[in-house]
Amino acid sequence: MAQSTDASSPDDAASSADAPVAIVIHGGAGTIRRADMSAEQDSMYRAALNRALSAGHDVLTDGGTAVGAVVAAITTMEDDALFNAAKGAVFTSENTVELDASIMDGGTRQAGALTGVKHIRNPIELARTIMNESVHVMLAQEGAETFARQQGFDMVENEYFYTERRRRAAEKARENGPTGDANLPDSYDPETAEDAGERGTFGTVGAVALDQDGNIAAGTSTGGTTNKRFGRIGDSPIIGAGTYADNQTCGVSATGHGEYFIRAAAAHSVAARMKFAGMSVEEAARVTVMDELPALPPDGGSGGVIALDADGNIAMPFNTQGMYRGYVDTDGNRAVMIYNDE
Ligand code: ASP
Repeated sequence: MAQSTDASSPDDAASSADAPVAIVIHGGAGTIRRADMSAEQDSMYRAALNRALSAGHDVLTDGGTAVGAVVAAITTMEDDALFNAAKGAVFTSENTVELDASIMDGGTRQAGALTGVKHIRNPIELARTIMNESVHVMLAQEGAETFARQQGFDMVENEYFYTERRRRAAEKARENGPTGDANLPDSYDPETAEDAGERGTFGTVGAVALDQDGNIAAGTSTGGTTNKRFGRIGDSPIIGAGTYADNQTCGVSATGHGEYFIRAAAAHSVAARMKFAGMSVEEAARVTVMDELPALPPDGGSGGVIALDADGNIAMPFNTQGMYRGYVDTDGNRAVMIYNDE
């Protein structure tokens, strides 16, 4: 089916029919309740999701690659302080920002990932460069930054990523002690929160795209969890946990309590359920997020995934109260959603 009917000649429509494109994005899952969001916050998030969708979808309709679309969508959200990725990322227990990201090309199953970088403006760009220009999949901390410098990346001060809202969130988290992997404590009262959007949300960003050549790519970028300690690494930069793509099955980007997503190899589990159990992308994503993750001790893995298969079928299940998310499907239908009831 045509991805868009706008200004398409019959010929354009016919070629679109052979080459449908689609993109799905997320901006994190967590305790995101309609009652806690002002109308202004709600529309700010929706506008931000729409900007990211447009950035990615424009790449696809211009004939660009799925990898290019994923990078375009994610850099838009990395540059937006609303999300927990690059600018606006959460603080560590040391009051710094340390970033993780990964990307995977479903056509070649090549992948690039980095963890614990402090001076890269757009970590997803570095993930792509690691995938394309190094013989490695994953680089960490100073080593990743040395590679970035060699590749001509501009470095930014760590302060570039700081926002007051995230600093306050880390201070609040520390009120319950240095738990290391804390989201905001239960004692944090939404009624008194200056910014309800910060409360208990995770905020990681991700994108999965299908391009005109039928290639799928997936990527994820995050600051990790508020007040993280000890060089903690979550699922987002781990291929198979937070990100996975294979043209034979689907592309997946996850968001949520990373420790559980690592233990479930969650992103790969979605693809494996399609490959080995013959499930649809919707069923595979749903079983992983609604059955497998919640069953893990001690608390169950909270969060969600976005997934997209080679036919452009989209799944966006989450087991939290909300997940910032949106898509443009192969028919050109666009939607952005935040809560359980959209
Ligand atoms: N999964 C990320 C992590 O654990 C956090 C998130 O998705 O918000 O680092």
